[in-house]
Amino acid sequence: MSKVVKFGGSSLASAEQFKKVAAIIQADENRRYVVPSAPGKRFGKDTKVTDMLYACYALAETGKDFKPALKEIKARYQDIIDGLELDLSLDGEFAVIEKNFQEKTGRDYAASRGEYLNGIILAAYIGFAFIDAAEVIFFADETGTWDGEKTRAVLSERLKSCEKAVIPGFYGSLPDGRIKTFSRGGSDITGSIVAQAAGVDVYENWTDVSGFLIADPRIIDNPKGIDVITYRELRELSYMGAGVLHEDAIFPVRQEGIPINIRNTNAPEDEGTWIVGSTCQKSKYVITGIAGKKGFCSVSVEKDMMNSEIGFGRRVLSAFEEQGISFEHMPSGIDTLTVFVHQDEFIDKEQKVVAGIHRMVKPDAIEIESDLALIAVVGRGMKSTRGTAGRIFSALAHNNVNVKMIDQGSSELNIIIGVNNGDFETAIRAIYDIFVLTAV
Ligand code: ASP
Repeated sequence: MSKVVKFGGSSLASAEQFKKVAAIIQADENRRYVVPSAPGKRFGKDTKVTDMLYACYALAETGKDFKPALKEIKARYQDIIDGLELDLSLDGEFAVIEKNFQEKTGRDYAASRGEYLNGIILAAYIGFAFIDAAEVIFFADETGTWDGEKTRAVLSERLKSCEKAVIPGFYGSLPDGRIKTFSRGGSDITGSIVAQAAGVDVYENWTDVSGFLIADPRIIDNPKGIDVITYRELRELSYMGAGVLHEDAIFPVRQEGIPINIRNTNAPEDEGTWIVGSTCQKSKYVITGIAGKKGFCSVSVEKDMMNSEIGFGRRVLSAFEEQGISFEHMPSGIDTLTVFVHQDEFIDKEQKVVAGIHRMVKPDAIEIESDLALIAVVGRGMKSTRGTAGRIFSALAHNNVNVKMIDQGSSELNIIIGVNNGDFETAIRAIYDIFVLTAV
């Protein structure tokens, strides 16, 4: 049995937090590879070190005096070192960083130093080897395409000769050796990549919540947690805005069937949430989770006999494609087809898209509605339970929520519901109540 453990920024924001992390690692011999984030917020209004680095580099890049800002960053690390009573100096590292900032080595390089330095401290504190991610994680190009093949080959070889190691999250290197980062929150991806390359049994992702919640706690008071969720369910929920784990983090481990266990550094006794490939474990409720987003527009295209016109849908969509707009959902009827898009992407190009649709399919009418929200009700349990959709809609009707759109994926894993932005919270509460609060 072996594990990769990734710790998020809030788990490593101070010496106090470092001590909790060390205790967690030391409590289980199997926790062999550790992936740290940069120090996050210590309190609500605090600034993440990654953000401090971006701001500091922006000064350097524009030729302004960045040294005071860099000194503040150094102080954050020194606080941790002092709190841990470590005999470690980062003077040499900061001299290199200062020089590289002066030479404008790059924004990604700057941001990556957050994880790099935290990794050095953590490795020294727990007595693990330190592996610089730039030597083992590779990107194929400037756009950030991850080079899985090269990474797997180099990283797995390196880990074979290393019983226990710290590998900083968030960055890797480009073919020319320059540093490149994943998108924000990308240490989750590094953890998944390390888990894949090491072929471990579990990828533990330690954060500051005890796993996923069935619904957003800003909408539902004290929502229940999710014990087990499948990768596919999670994809549906995180796409619709449920946070906690970086969207791309599931791909490397999913390929190998390695489960992810989301855990809470501040409550290590909690089991957290297990993210698995497939499971015979039924979720406690018919639904596994509810998530949603506001700010969509619907564009309904009406044309008699549309259904018998071959290529109709493709031509409508090409009007969106021409303007570089991706669509979210496309429910259709016999004579109408509706395309849901993000309002902020669509708004400026609205008339061009409408003109494009006219040109492509000569519709009878086009109707646009804005300020809509989409809610995804997700659950592997829905497949084997009759009446789920019925219960959702009667709950919504009872709460005076007007349903604008319904889309059930053929996988029967989720039902997407479109409502007015103003009804968003009411709708989520109604669905949560019917499936969770009043579940028997
Ligand atoms: N430190 C980076 C960020 O703040 C990456 C991470 O924490 O995963 O986005």
